Amino acid sequence: MARRTGPVCRLCRREGIKLFLKGIRCTGDKCAIERRNHPPGMHRRGRGKLSDYGVQLREKQKAKKIYGMMERQFHIFFKRASKKQGITGETLIQLLERRLDSVVYRLLFVPSRAEARQLVNHGSILVNGRAVNIPSFQVRTGDVIQPQAGESLKKRIESNLEMLKDRPTPEWLELNRATLEAKVTRLPEKADAGLPIEESQIVELYSK
Ligand code: SF4
Repeated sequence: MARRTGPVCRLCRREGIKLFLKGIRCTGDKCAIERRNHPPGMHRRGRGKLSDYGVQLREKQKAKKIYGMMERQFHIFFKRASKKQGITGETLIQLLERRLDSVVYRLLFVPSRAEARQLVNHGSILVNGRAVNIPSFQVRTGDVIQPQAGESLKKRIESNLEMLKDRPTPEWLELNRATLEAKVTRLPEKADAGLPIEESQIVELYSK
């Protein structure tokens, strides 16, 4: 699948907020938003008043960047959400949170979604005992997620869990820290994501 490359801190500076794309660096004083919170580019233009379209576009860009998705796949997720019952924007957030790479990130197995995607791509994550190497795989209630057997992976995850112990884990995931086995106890809701995204603006944008 196509993925974005290049300096990721620029993406946060473009939006003017922390999108937490670089793992542990994001909580330290080396974060580019802490050091120079202005849009990227030579002329340091400010963030002028946006049109309605501009606001909608920025919300979509923010969501895409947070989940590390390109337009085509993000639009597929939107179309899937719009076909389901319920509020489309909230369903979209739910589908994004249910991605296996996002779940691995939420479980704090790794400090960033990019690393979580890599772990999944390498087939290092099991769902119900079977290796799943599709980052966009949707978890369901009752699914059991765990890393592949192997001392080095186990140690890496344990060390990440210790390093990230101050970050909260969502209520819809139950992790047994001794066995590194996690269970999806229910589907996530919008509030569980706790993201600075106004999903209704994304719906407006795609509804034009
Ligand atoms: Fe964004 Fe993290 Fe870079 Fe800060 S360190 S600008 S939060 S990616």
